[in-house]
Amino acid sequence: MSALVIGHMNPDTDSIISAIVAADLYKKRGMDVTPAAQGAPTPETEFVLKKFGLSAPQVVNDVAGKQLYLVDYSDLAQAPQGMDSATVLGIVDHHKLGDVTTSAPLEAWIWPVGCSNTVLKAMYDFYGIEIPKNIAGAMLCAILSDTVIFKSPTCTPEDKKAVEDLARIAGVTDVVALGMEMFKVKSAVEGTPIRDLVFRDYKDFDMSGNKVGIGQLEVVDLSILDAVKGELQAEIAKVKAEGRHSVFLLLTDIMKEGSEMLIVSDNPAVVEKAFGVKPEGTSVWLPGVMSRKKQVVPNFEKAFK
Ligand code: MG
Ligand code: MG
Ligand code: MG
Repeated sequence: MSALVIGHMNPDTDSIISAIVAADLYKKRGMDVTPAAQGAPTPETEFVLKKFGLSAPQVVNDVAGKQLYLVDYSDLAQAPQGMDSATVLGIVDHHKLGDVTTSAPLEAWIWPVGCSNTVLKAMYDFYGIEIPKNIAGAMLCAILSDTVIFKSPTCTPEDKKAVEDLARIAGVTDVVALGMEMFKVKSAVEGTPIRDLVFRDYKDFDMSGNKVGIGQLEVVDLSILDAVKGELQAEIAKVKAEGRHSVFLLLTDIMKEGSEMLIVSDNPAVVEKAFGVKPEGTSVWLPGVMSRKKQVVPNFEKAFK
C-alpha cells in the first residue's frame, strides 16, 4: 500500500507543493508514496503548478487505515477524517508541535523556519539527492508565499538561503518579481464565492476550550477588498454561528505590512486583550501584523486563558 503524503485542511501553496516535493524525495529514497491534498489548489497554487509544469495532487478527505506522511501541520484539527485508524510515519513542518501522536518511531523534521519547503530543501541536501529544476521553482514559490516575499516575521536566514539556492537550480533570476506576480494572482478575488474567500486560508483552533476560527487573505492592496468587506463580515458571522466562539478574518496588505482584522465573537474584548487596540465596531487595523502563526495565534491563546 502506497503511503500518502498529505498537507493540512484548506490547503495553501506550501502544503500542496510540500506534498509533491516530499513525495519526490521519499520516492528517490526508495519509499512507496503518493502526494495528496485535502482540497483543490487555490488560484495562487494553480499559478505555481502551471508555471513549473506540475499537476495537482489527488484530493483525499478520509485516511482511515492509511499510512501517512504529514506536511505543513501536526494538529489533529487540520487533519483529514479517519486519523484514529491511520498510521503517521513522518512529519515535515514549521508550525508549533500539534497533537498528532504515533505508536511507533517516526521520521520528524520540524524546524522553526518560515516554510515547510525550507525544511525539505535541507532534507534533499542531507540525503544528497539532486532537486529537479521544476521542483526547485515550485519550492521557492512556496517559500515566497509563506514568508510573504521575506516580509513576514516568520522569515529566517535559512528561508532566504534556501530561496537563493533554489533560484540558482530553477534558473529564476528575479525572485521578488516572481513573488509579486504570484501575490497579484493571489489578490484577485473577483468572481470567487465569498465562502471560498473566507476558507481560502482558514484554520480552526482550540483556545482554552473555545473553538476559534482564524482566516487570512493576503493582498497587494487592501482596497481590492473594499467591495466585498461587508459580505465577508456577514459570511464570518455565519461561520461563527456553526458552533464557534469567535471567527477572525485577517485582511493582510503585504505592501503596507499590516492587517485589518474582521471580528465576530462571543467576547469581542479578547481582541483588545490580545492586541492592546480597541476595535472600531467589527474591525481593527493591526499595524505590522502579517503572520497568523507568529503574531495572531499566540496573542489570542494568551487572551483566551
Ligand atoms: Mg500552510
Ligand atoms: Mg507552511
Ligand atoms: Mg500562510
